[in-house]
Formats: sequence, C-alpha cells, structure tokens
Amino acid sequence: MFRTFLIKYGEIAIKGKNRHLFEEALVRQIRHALSKVDGEFTVTREQGRIYIDCESEYDYEETVEALQRVFGIVGICPVMKVEDRGLDELGSDVIRFLEQVYEDHSQTFKVLTRRAKKTYPIESMEVNSELGGRILDAFPDMRVDVHDPELLIHVEIRDMIYIYSKIIPGPGGMPVGTSGRAMLLLSGGIDSPVAGYMIGKRGVVIDAVYFHAPPYTSDRAKQKVVDLAKLVARYTGPIRLHVVNFTDIQLYIYEKCPHDELTIIMRRYMMMIAERFAALDGSMALITGESIGQVASQTIQSLAVTNEVCKLPVFRPLIGFDKQEIVEVAKKIDTFETSILPYEDCCTIFVAKHPVTKPNLKVIQRSECKLQEKIDEMVETAVESAETICVE
Ligand code: ATP
Ligand code: MG
Repeated sequence: MFRTFLIKYGEIAIKGKNRHLFEEALVRQIRHALSKVDGEFTVTREQGRIYIDCESEYDYEETVEALQRVFGIVGICPVMKVEDRGLDELGSDVIRFLEQVYEDHSQTFKVLTRRAKKTYPIESMEVNSELGGRILDAFPDMRVDVHDPELLIHVEIRDMIYIYSKIIPGPGGMPVGTSGRAMLLLSGGIDSPVAGYMIGKRGVVIDAVYFHAPPYTSDRAKQKVVDLAKLVARYTGPIRLHVVNFTDIQLYIYEKCPHDELTIIMRRYMMMIAERFAALDGSMALITGESIGQVASQTIQSLAVTNEVCKLPVFRPLIGFDKQEIVEVAKKIDTFETSILPYEDCCTIFVAKHPVTKPNLKVIQRSECKLQEKIDEMVETAVESAETICVE
C-alpha cells in the first residue's frame, strides 16, 4: 500500500562538513540492501532526507527487514506522498491516509506539521488545527491529545507533501564505508560474527580471514564460516573472506613446542597472518571476538602475549561482554543458529588438556625459536595459497 519510505538518520547529521560523504555512503548501502529484495526502487537524497520510491510491486515486510540491516538508519517511515493541491485537498489526503492505514479510528491523535518549504503560504500551527478539525469531522471517535497521543500524524511539507505516522526503528550506527576497513578473524564460533557486526556498525568495511585445518577440520566447518560471513554481509555488504590452510603450521608447532603453549603460539601466528592479509586489503585494524576470561587463551596475560605480535590496532568489541550478552546479539543478527552447529574448530583439535593461562612472553618467544627453521616459509606459503571468497 505504501509506495514511499522516508529514511531518518541521526548520527550522521552531526558530522558537519563530512555530512555529504555520510549521506552518499548511506544511499549506497541502502541501494545495496534493496538489490537483494524483489522489486524496483529509486533512492534519492534531498534536503537532509533520503526517500525510497517503490517503482514496482514489492514485499513490504522484506523491504523493511532489509532496511533494518542498514547501519546509519535510525527510523524507517512508510509515507503517503501527495502533491500540494491546497489545504482542502491535503485534508482529504490525510483522511484517506488514516482510512488506508488503520482499521480502527478511535485513537487519540495529534497532527505535527513541518513546513520545510518556506514558501508554503500557511503556518504549521494553522495546518495542524485545520487538519485536526477535518479528522475530527471524519472520525467522530477520534480525540485530540497534544501531550501523549496514541497516533502522531506527521505532515512534512516540501516540494511534495509526506504523511506518516509510523517510525520503524533502524539499527543506528554509521553507514558502512565511512570509517575505513578492518580484518575480522572469523571462526565458526558465536563470538567473532558478533564482533564483525559491531565494528561494521561503526561504519567499517569488513574483510575476514578464517584458519582452516584440513583434514582435521572438514569442508562442512569451512562452509559454516562462509555461511556466517554471508550473514554478517547482510549488514556490512560484501566481505572478502580469506581461507588459510593452517594445518602445516599447526602440526609444526605441535611437533616443536610444548603442548601447553600450543594455543597461545598458534594464536600469535593467526594474528601475524591476519596482518599480512590486512596489508594486502588495505585494512587498518584487526577484529577478534575475544572477551576477558572467557577461555584460557583470553586471560589478560594471554591477550597481552597474543597482542605482542601485532602492529595494527586490534579491536575486541566484546571484551567486556558476558557470554549471555554475546548470545543475545548473535540471536538478534541471526548468526546464533549457524554458530552452534557442531563442526570441529581448528583450535579445539590441537588444544592441550591444561593450556597455560598465564603465559610469559619470554618463555613463549623462546619456544618459538624452535620454529625458526621452517616457519617463515610456511607463513609465506599459507598466505600465498589462501583461497579468497567474495561473500555477499
Ligand atoms: P568464537 O566464538 O568467535 O570462535 P571462541 O570463544 O571460540 O570465539 P577462541 O577460539 O579463543 O574463542 O577464539 C578467539 C578469537 O580468535 C575468535 O573470536 C576469532 O576472532 C579468532 N579465531 C579463533 N579461531 C579462529 C579461526 N579458526 N579462524 C579465524 N579466527 C579465529
Ligand atoms: Mg572459536
């Protein structure tokens, strides 16, 4: 029934002279999101507003859901767009709007007019009271309540006039593409997809790297990560996913280093390799799903020793989250069900029964010296032989 949506965006309006860059990114992300929805849409930007016109039949629910995944959108308003044919006609349009949108007409209401077109001859207050009067005439059970109305009927007067009463919440955040690019270490678990989502929400373009250990980890485990990347990409837009064959490096560490240090040493190599891909993709930071104390490799001491190999900043947006809080976000963004599929993980296969929880950097570095002979070449091979999948 609605043919137009008005898009409200908050944070980006504050951005002063960068504003147009933000609006352009938002329009681009909206177009991308709508390209996945059946139907033809035109997205236009004018006077600090973004409008979406539906040029063909379309699925309302699906369209709203797609828009609810576009960071930067604060509100999605389904609007009736009418031409300015005078106040009397506008009154009829508002009545028609209420007839079409609501079955029941006994709510309390208030009309809120915004006259963005300053040449419009009638003051907002006068439009409010005119339209209010017309509504009361048409629907005798409706009543005016200026303080706490059940129905707030917005009338925006611009070159066209927009009538709406619903503001469907958007995800907030900043449009992807306005804050640079970062490399997500994406595993098949619950946490890392949520971490990617959270950084994407700050406007960052996401690429990803997954460490695969065939035959210890199966094709199904890899497919699960591809599927998770797809789910994250519904919010962030396309993700370049690098699948690194990590088996030889893991076996080499297993062979040469004390087993209680495997996890920490392996994690240091993951970070190093992730930085190599970051350099190739132009990413300026790494992202992980780590959270203090969640597992042995995430004590402060472990995080510090892992971090020591990194030159780029490492974003850990879940650092202070409880598992339950992470699960809530995972459910909200629909990654949870995929994350809990029971496929093996390259870290779990080689973990020791009692991994060190308070690693000492000097000790770890000394153990790593035992890898000297072949490790550089192995890292090189891992980087060069990685498979890159473009996920949308
Ligand atoms: P997740 O649920 O994200 O897998 P986790 O609780 O299993 O996290 P760890 O296995 O210690 O925790 O991993 C910590 C972080 O390291 C992950 O959030 C992810 O960013 C990264 N990571 C772990 N394993 C891999 C992997 N195989 N490939 C890419 N990144 C990984
Ligand atoms: Mg994991």
